[in-house]
Amino acid sequence: MPELFIDGEWVRAVAGGRRDVVNPFDATVLTTVDDADETDVDHAVRAARRAFDSGAWSGLPTRARADVLYRVHRYLLRDKEEIARTETLDTGKTLAESRIDVEDVANAFRYFAEIADKDGGRVLDVGSDVLSRVVHQPVGVCALIAPWNYPLLQASWKVAPALAAGNTFVLKPSETTPLSTVRMVRLIVEAGVPPGVVNLVLGPGDVVGAAMTAHPEVDLVSFTGGLATGRRIMASAAEGVKTVALELGGKNPNIVFDDCDADAALDYALDAAFLHSGQVCSAGSRLLVQEGIHDRFVKKLAERAARIRLGDGLLPETESGPLSSAEHRGKVEEYLKTGRAEGATLVTGGRRPETAELSRGFFLQPTVFANCDRSMRIVQEEIFGPVVTVERFAGEEEAVALANDTRYGLAGGVWTSEASRAQRVANALRHGTVWINDFHPYVPQAEWGGFGRSGIGRELGVAGLREYQETKHIYQNLAPAPSGWFKG
Ligand code: NAD
Repeated sequence: MPELFIDGEWVRAVAGGRRDVVNPFDATVLTTVDDADETDVDHAVRAARRAFDSGAWSGLPTRARADVLYRVHRYLLRDKEEIARTETLDTGKTLAESRIDVEDVANAFRYFAEIADKDGGRVLDVGSDVLSRVVHQPVGVCALIAPWNYPLLQASWKVAPALAAGNTFVLKPSETTPLSTVRMVRLIVEAGVPPGVVNLVLGPGDVVGAAMTAHPEVDLVSFTGGLATGRRIMASAAEGVKTVALELGGKNPNIVFDDCDADAALDYALDAAFLHSGQVCSAGSRLLVQEGIHDRFVKKLAERAARIRLGDGLLPETESGPLSSAEHRGKVEEYLKTGRAEGATLVTGGRRPETAELSRGFFLQPTVFANCDRSMRIVQEEIFGPVVTVERFAGEEEAVALANDTRYGLAGGVWTSEASRAQRVANALRHGTVWINDFHPYVPQAEWGGFGRSGIGRELGVAGLREYQETKHIYQNLAPAPSGWFKG
């Protein structure tokens, strides 16, 4: 069966392009999929335009759209095991993580179904002879572009609100991890969207993604991925003055004060840095530890990092998988060299694992660099691998100054047993999400997104629906009479 979905049909790429999808655990080819080009994108965008203009989706009562989303929620849970397995094969992440991802994806669909019809706009009290209403309407045709680290999850944070709000779209997953997204689109089709509302194209970013963002019939571009790509996309969208939403990278501080529950903080410092081999936009890859517990904390962190069991994500004993591709591992390895050259102390890791079983996959050892400082590139740049840098701090003010000394601003953690300090620091951090005595949880009800160069706009929460809506003011004069402004 073909993997492109355009205008209600599963179709092959017009030019016949195909691409291998590789399992990062052992570098074997999992399958081959259609690889689109500009022509397929044009067909998909035009189909989305026609579907939008027909009103077949945007004109439905909101409840009818919500019903489709509820069905997708149910189908995702029905097929959870199969989808989770696909995600693990494609990304290398553990099956336990993939299962959580699928549940989170299902929850995102349910959340946007729940809020879709709670959004009636406002009636304003601006005078007795006036009816003034503020209403929210779909933006139109959306180009949705997703990354490879959470392929299904990141796509769902766009797809679910875009549908709930009544838009049509063309979706493109990363060329390295398209499989779970193809599966999700099949479920959305099964749930009953009209033809042309949902369109799926697969292929490389610089061809397929670029054609989507530049297409004159696209009204909104929503992108999750790296900073450099985000810049290119914004520049491309500027020509048509498209609405742009960007979820970009992060270099996220995790601040550990002396007075915290150190066992819990240590556990979460490992999760923060090494979950999915650090390929998480909100990874706590910049650890700040107060001087009183610094040495003990770093020693234990390194001991436990060295014990993380790398392996096949499908096996229950595996705690972390490989990096997503040979190319990406190469980039992370460059940062390992940079860290050494900058004078950071390599406490553990820093190499590929030596076991024969892991030699074919794109593995790297969990790595801890200590004695880092804010001037280092490894402290300032997103490495997106299993690498955590540690800086020492003396007091609260210094911790906040360090944590905010970043061009990013996606997320941060604070570990302390003093409630007032926790709140003070959380208020002072210039990051879109702050966790206190925790790391990584997010809920669909709360907005997700970044300060600074971590992005523009918010996903999830009410703001995540608003991204896909235009706000319109309708003003009616209920007692029209000549204005008399011009006298002649
Ligand atoms: P990437 O920027 O390389 O690619 C992301 C997507 O953009 C892919 O689908 C790719 O094909 C496409 N693309 C590439 N060039 C394009 C172009 N010129 N025009 C249009 N599309 C193009 O990112 P990645 O390596 O897949 O993902 C990792 C990055 O994503 C990290 O920086 C990570 O922090 C970020 N990320 C952010 C969030 C968040 O919520 N803020 C979540 C997940 C990942």
